[in-house]
Amino acid sequence: MVSVLELGKKIMCMGYICDRCLGRQFAELLTGMDNAERGRIVRLSVAMEIDRIAADPEELKKFEEDESEKIRVENFVGITFHNNKHLNIQLKEVDKENLECFLCGNIMERLDEMARNVVKELEGYEFETFLVGVKLPEHIESAEAKLWEEIGGIYAESIRNEITREVGKRVQQLTGKKVEFKKPDVTVILNLQRNVIELIVSSLYIYGRYNKYKEMPQARWVCRHCNGVGCKRCEWKGRLYDDSVQDRIGEILLEMTKGVDTKIHGAGREDIDALCTGWREFVIEILEPRKRKIDLKKAEKEINKRNKGVVEVKDLKIVDKDMVRIIKEKRSKKIYEAIVRFEKEIDEEELKKLKGFQAVISQKTPTRVLHRRSDKVRKRRVKIVDVERIDERRAKMIIEADAGTYIKEFVNGDGGRTRPSVAELLNSECEVEKLIVAGFIDNENSSGGKQK
Ligand SMILES: [Zn+2]
Ligand SMILES: [Zn+2]
Repeated sequence: MVSVLELGKKIMCMGYICDRCLGRQFAELLTGMDNAERGRIVRLSVAMEIDRIAADPEELKKFEEDESEKIRVENFVGITFHNNKHLNIQLKEVDKENLECFLCGNIMERLDEMARNVVKELEGYEFETFLVGVKLPEHIESAEAKLWEEIGGIYAESIRNEITREVGKRVQQLTGKKVEFKKPDVTVILNLQRNVIELIVSSLYIYGRYNKYKEMPQARWVCRHCNGVGCKRCEWKGRLYDDSVQDRIGEILLEMTKGVDTKIHGAGREDIDALCTGWREFVIEILEPRKRKIDLKKAEKEINKRNKGVVEVKDLKIVDKDMVRIIKEKRSKKIYEAIVRFEKEIDEEELKKLKGFQAVISQKTPTRVLHRRSDKVRKRRVKIVDVERIDERRAKMIIEADAGTYIKEFVNGDGGRTRPSVAELLNSECEVEKLIVAGFIDNENSSGGKQK
């Protein structure tokens, strides 16, 4: 094992090194001090050793003859030797103003400045937690790699680690916000290659439940041909459908958070032409929000006011990103209210027989979605809870079905691809005229139902 003194000497032979960079090579020795202090200790210890050697003419002769002991004199600027007068003379000739650390090129002197720049960059963003990252210039990475090749670097910390920790500490002091590794509100990248600061602002996730009283897709329907730019197919609108639950809810939240855009994550979705009165759960993601603390009660009120009769929300609350996965994995049973129109007249008696019907149906992927879904057979449990005749050609049905059931096909049979079906049971062609998702039944507890 090489001693600390030997290691220190070896490093100082490679060129001028600043206190922080020298001390960083010994970061895992002693605690309760920073690397600048460690570097100072090693530097002074090596200087003392050299001064000791100079007191003994025999040893000094040997030291000066030894080629491997070519310590760079710049490393002793500010130190005066008692015995080694020769070094004192050499030190007088050093250009003290232009010393440049061979490892960091003196960037370690700029930690305070970096922290101040970070704080400036973060102005205008509301955040509680942050994380600092760094992109190092190539020459620093390779200088560190080369040094470690020489000396082994077994007690060393990386320069990357020290910069992010030290700047993080300073930003923490300046702002009163906390460093957080797992899910910081904002990640600051000190790009020292290009001398800029990059911000990665984490999304804000807002949970809620919605009802939809007008035909529209849940998510914004961007034109696939032009990717939203605008083309002939979408009549230069960039989207195939003008309206969406996402934008109805997102508009106000974007105004309040000053975010850039939204994404909606629903606990499933209903068809464009199906309505929802059972309060579907969703999480709306606000991209790059400037404000994170918003009055959600006010947001809820405003959304419901502006979208009266179209979209309604409730239970808005800030959640963790994990909530997206949780609601997406929820496979709630659903209660549907369907207005069904029959090809032929159906009498009351026949209809009544349907009430209480339940079965595990087998559904091949519906013809209407075959172009985008793979063809397979699904087994789903359905139950016709109630049937109410409207006139000789129409009835209202309340159907309870497993998550993922294609209700329209359970009704019309999809040309025999869904069996059994209402059409098959009544021996008449029939179609869903209007479909409403009226309730969600979670596995554990029942929520929704037909309350409104
Ligand atoms: Zn340095
Ligand atoms: Zn288009």
